[in-house]
Amino acid sequence: MVKEYGVYEVVLKQLEAAADALKLAPQTKELLAEPVRNFKVAIPVKMDDGSVKVFKGFRCQHNDALGPTKGGVRFHPQVDEDEVKALAAWMTFKCALVGIPYGGAKGGILCNPKELSNSELERLSRGFIAAISPIIGPEKDIPAPDVYTNPQVMSWFMDEFSRLKGFNSPGVVTGKPLIVGGSAGRDSATARGVMFTTREACILMKLDLKEARVVVQGYGNAGFYSAKFLHELGGKVIAVNDSSGGAFNPEGMDPLALLDYKHSNGSVKGFPGSVNIVNDDLLSLECEILVPAALENQITADNAGDIRAKLIAEAANGPTTPEADQILFEKGVMIIPDILANAGGVTVSYFEWVQNLSNYYWTAEEVDTKLERIMVEAFRNVYSTSIEGKVNMRVAAYMVAVNKLAEAMKVRGWI
Ligand code: NAD
Repeated sequence: MVKEYGVYEVVLKQLEAAADALKLAPQTKELLAEPVRNFKVAIPVKMDDGSVKVFKGFRCQHNDALGPTKGGVRFHPQVDEDEVKALAAWMTFKCALVGIPYGGAKGGILCNPKELSNSELERLSRGFIAAISPIIGPEKDIPAPDVYTNPQVMSWFMDEFSRLKGFNSPGVVTGKPLIVGGSAGRDSATARGVMFTTREACILMKLDLKEARVVVQGYGNAGFYSAKFLHELGGKVIAVNDSSGGAFNPEGMDPLALLDYKHSNGSVKGFPGSVNIVNDDLLSLECEILVPAALENQITADNAGDIRAKLIAEAANGPTTPEADQILFEKGVMIIPDILANAGGVTVSYFEWVQNLSNYYWTAEEVDTKLERIMVEAFRNVYSTSIEGKVNMRVAAYMVAVNKLAEAMKVRGWI
């Protein structure tokens, strides 16, 4: 019988596998299995019709052994405490893995941003930051964008925090528009990291990117830019989808035209020259590269057996369950795990924070060169750990991350 996991249980399973492989001390595992701080807030918002609606918000700080905590804020109608906890833990492991001096955090507001006006969204964003302001700050915890939040929301976050403090504090939030202290390259950074790690994996697998068929689940920030960059390297984008449906064309589609179409029509579904495709059929398409770039638990024990991709680059956080992982490993599918594949986002967020603190701004080329070096080094580190330890890429990625966290917690005297 297929066993279903809650999202946080997935984190615990992944931690467990690395802890076993590393023969980790039980206290170290125990400490990494629980967030250090977990907040719930209620945010009253004056709606445009004069009524007041109270929204639930979450901010979880998972572990700060390596530095101030860092992680995005998700606005979504299904977000809950368990999901935010899991996403915060993944941030801890991701930052450790790529070697940037942050711990992990994540936030969320239970809402449907598509049903809110722009001014309601602004009041909600400001209300959330006001509610969590005692626990965030450039030296404490630094929010960023995630699903259904964007540079505009980050700008409201930064402005509200700065108003409360009485001085400009650009370093409190990353993913801001350039004009108020954003970094060149932040908007596309997650996908650039996906592209760099995919390129490295293709070299190892002797997969020619110019011959590669690419399928992308989720056509938002991470999905669109992943499609764009893989297309620029010669890949053929044969299918993409979003929460309203999907478009499939075996001849390939132009990522920019798909984005324009989505902007005009609200979805990629119906893109000229394509046929509609449902989510399950999209995931099981024959292709070289599958990029899940939507939400968690998309590739499960139920559909992993049907996957025909050779390489999965996890732009999304937590798209694959532990059972699906095992099935794919046995089928010989290479996975670039989320904490590696999508670490470009937090890496350039780190660059943005460094620029904010030093008040000196870098060019897009500088950002890109530094990002490429970090991503390629992290990929090679994970790959060599997987070969030496005879473990899959996910376990290897956790081994690298957990080792660093264990060392930091030890020298701090926590364990
Ligand atoms: P986004 O809001 O820009 O886009 C999300 C996309 O997913 C939208 O197109 C939406 O329609 C689609 N979607 C939602 N539910 C879907 C479903 N059931 N099937 C198919 N598509 C669906 O969000 P994003 O920032 O691109 O984040 C996507 C994933 O990438 C998340 O897992 C996020 O945590 C992860 N991620 C994002 C960043 C970043 O910098 N934005 C960094 C690291 C990881």
